Amino acid sequence: MTQLTPVLTDMWDVEQGWKLKPYEAKGGYAALDVAFGMAPDDVIGAVKDSGLRGRGGAGFPTGMKWSFIPQDNPKPKYLVVNADESEPGTCKDIPLMMGNPHVLVEGVIISSYAIRANKAFIYIRGEVLHVIRRVQAAVDEAYAAGHLGKDIHGSGYDLDVVVHAGAGAYICGEETALLEGLEGRRGQPRLRPPFPAVAGLYASPTVINNVESVASVPAIVKNGAAWFASMGTEKSKGHGIFSLSGHVTRPGQYEAPLGITLRELLDLAGGIREGHRLKFWTPGGSSTPLLTAEHLDIPLDFEGVGSVGSMLGTRALQIFDETVCVVRAVLRWTEFYKHESCGKCTPCREGTWWLVQALDRLENGSIDEQGGAELVDQLLDQCDNILGRSFCALGDGATSPISSSVMYFRDEYLAHLRHGGCPFDPARSTVWA
Ligand code: NAD
Ligand code: SF4
Repeated sequence: MTQLTPVLTDMWDVEQGWKLKPYEAKGGYAALDVAFGMAPDDVIGAVKDSGLRGRGGAGFPTGMKWSFIPQDNPKPKYLVVNADESEPGTCKDIPLMMGNPHVLVEGVIISSYAIRANKAFIYIRGEVLHVIRRVQAAVDEAYAAGHLGKDIHGSGYDLDVVVHAGAGAYICGEETALLEGLEGRRGQPRLRPPFPAVAGLYASPTVINNVESVASVPAIVKNGAAWFASMGTEKSKGHGIFSLSGHVTRPGQYEAPLGITLRELLDLAGGIREGHRLKFWTPGGSSTPLLTAEHLDIPLDFEGVGSVGSMLGTRALQIFDETVCVVRAVLRWTEFYKHESCGKCTPCREGTWWLVQALDRLENGSIDEQGGAELVDQLLDQCDNILGRSFCALGDGATSPISSSVMYFRDEYLAHLRHGGCPFDPARSTVWA
């Protein structure tokens, strides 16, 4: 059986493991001295060699992103940590910040040093006040211990960190909307390019990295790029946190090498809840196309999940057994996208509204079979007119659960039509044929 690789999660079971002393007792903040003994470009080189790819969903190579920061630009450089975790099903960054905030702070210091930033921001979604307090407490402890501020560890390097509370909008997880929010404006995406690496916060070169990406850096610096690259698969290196939720016996976060399969993760998590079977699942949150039981053995890395038409995303595995109506689940997610659409572009603003209307009619309405059959095709047509025509990834993401569920469960959609609404009978755990 694949072994778990507790690196980011190794403090989670330690008594008060979120505090400085237990973290230091386990070697915390030792990676700073290793990094300060290296030239910033060599730190970037080490992260490049490790193969670390962005853990926020897109998988962009982290070291390469850092190397895009133009060092000949006289403007200040910034590091911004995207801690606005909001994707339905995604629940890794918040437990990570609660269980081990210091690994994030240590990662912020090394990452900022590498890109020559003297100011960093940790942008946390506003609803999770307990997380904001915990990260702020860790930052305060780090200042008091000389890990932050002026002349850190006698290196001559200065860094200030600001913990910023977002106002609670899913779109502010999109990196340029996050920057708008950080600058005090309404959170709506900016046109890219220019990418933030060239013109980001206050139009200055800015690296925006996910919590888990930044938190992965101290162990890479301490243990070496080869250590990290020895885990995972050819193009998806290292370990990551897989969040299992839904109908599993032991839901939670499992840290494992990329490339592990859902079957192996389910073994670790005690399997699907007793007496039931897997019906469908998301590999990386609700924006990633659904998969089914036939995909239990695909490697959960960027390439493996991509090869079956989905995306690894945030490794948020939402597991649904046969008692769940797929149309109902998809309606719930689509309501979320409609609610969170920022309204900037027409395909997403209007399209998500139309998608909810159509799904709601299918699930709750009374539709004659002829009109209804067209409704499923209309739904797909609406998806086609949103996908690739929206200003940012939110619109595209809204279509993923719909088109993938129609592909795998068209019969279930048609059963809704025949029945004039949801035919699902939880007691019988089946769908009317
Ligand atoms: P993207 O592929 O456009 O960009 C990824 C990163 O690489 C960005 O930081 C971007 O600035 C950088 N980048 C890409 N090309 C670049 C270039 N040529 N020069 C400089 N930098 C470049 O992806 P995205 O739209 O930023 O993010 C989409 C992903 O976000 C999805 O895969 C989804 O899984 C994920 N997501 C995560 C959450 C969450 O809660 N964590 C929520 C929604 C979506
Ligand atoms: Fe806003 Fe949606 Fe357009 Fe993104 S796709 S800019 S969230 S309206």
